[in-house]
Amino acid sequence: MRPVFAAVADDDTGATDLAGMLADQGVRTVLVIDVPTLADLEVWSEDADAVIIGVATRSVEPRLAYEHNRAAVSLLARLNPLVYQIKYCSTFDSTPEGNIGQAIDAAMDELGESFTVALPALPVNGRTTYMGYHFVYRQLLSDSPMRDHPLTPMRNPNLVSHLSGQTRRRVGLAHYPVTRDRIEQVRAEGVEIAILDCISDEDLERICRAIADLRLITGSSAPAMKLPAIWRERGWWMPRELPWRAPAGGGLGFLVVAGSCSVATRRQNRWLEEQGAVTVVLDPIAVAEGAADPAQRVVWELRNGRTCLLRTASQPEDVERVATWAQERGITNLEAGARIAQELARLVRRIFDEHRPQGLVVAGGETSGAICRALELAALEVRPNIEPGVPLCVSLGRFRLPVVLKSGNFGTPDFYGRAIEACRKAA
Ligand code: ADP
Repeated sequence: MRPVFAAVADDDTGATDLAGMLADQGVRTVLVIDVPTLADLEVWSEDADAVIIGVATRSVEPRLAYEHNRAAVSLLARLNPLVYQIKYCSTFDSTPEGNIGQAIDAAMDELGESFTVALPALPVNGRTTYMGYHFVYRQLLSDSPMRDHPLTPMRNPNLVSHLSGQTRRRVGLAHYPVTRDRIEQVRAEGVEIAILDCISDEDLERICRAIADLRLITGSSAPAMKLPAIWRERGWWMPRELPWRAPAGGGLGFLVVAGSCSVATRRQNRWLEEQGAVTVVLDPIAVAEGAADPAQRVVWELRNGRTCLLRTASQPEDVERVATWAQERGITNLEAGARIAQELARLVRRIFDEHRPQGLVVAGGETSGAICRALELAALEVRPNIEPGVPLCVSLGRFRLPVVLKSGNFGTPDFYGRAIEACRKAA
């Protein structure tokens, strides 16, 4: 079947955010991790209305970002979707060199499109654009905490000039209030990528009507809030009552893995510990050195049907210790974090090779990416959101189980409880 929508997302939790938004509106959505073979893609996307490929290119070298995005778009084109999106974060996470421009260039080159729009705003979360300047709630992007992001510090709030540095195409502005005529006017002036001003939900609705006919759009997950209703009006798509694919039966126990050190995740960890979950706290340095191996104990507890929380020590003083350890070895904090995520993922794989739990919950974007790849989860069928931005998924890859991937800062204090309940129902 021909999907109505296909997207390429620059990170996995961003992809789940977009996927959950679509799934909430009844759009059958499949999320694929990395560029698969055409044969696999065809099997996974059978019955799908929307297919999203997460390429994890937010912080890679710009040339690689172009290549991976182009390969993903080329593959998605084999499914012949009606609408394509290049999805990035609503805080426009990128450096002066890339990689949003590279991703857009790759899609335009591959599809032969001469014009597209960039809609990074997400008004419900306070991300707005006015006269090309981007805001996070009441602060300019460059005054917001994004200023000091370790990977993609955003110091230029003018998205027209910022994006211009990342692409060879001409970037321009369709300024407030954005209408179809204004977009057409900017296009007639020779602009190839038009940044769209957008400050409210009403703007978003009007803009989505104005861009619904474009074959390629780019932006945050905001368009996905409005487009399904428009597709439906136009007869491009209808919600369908189709059974979900069942996860494999027989798993016992629930595994929660937290690699995030964020305040929200630490609070959630505490909540789960208070509920009496078996908690295994790993020294992050021992994890980085491959010296922590509680797999047997976790397997034993899971086999007894228990809920296990496997987490790194994540207080500020633990993060400080890791920074000192990294400095002594001449590696950056980022490399240290990536190493911890990789080793933690290998540990989770050892657990799964012995025993597949009934459900898996992961806290942390990078941690999720590493674990999905180590477990060869490959593709996820996405069901409605458990909480905003965090859907329940069912893996279609090596281990077929309910999975919840949560960005570090997302979720209420009792989120794990809801996530486990959602996994239990799905299983
Ligand atoms: P978030 O979504 O909160 O950013 P991520 O998983 O993306 O979470 O990032 C957290 C990073 O920190 C991961 O790379 C993880 O391996 C690493 N990490 C985990 N524990 C520690 C620690 N105690 N000190 C430093 N880094 C840590």
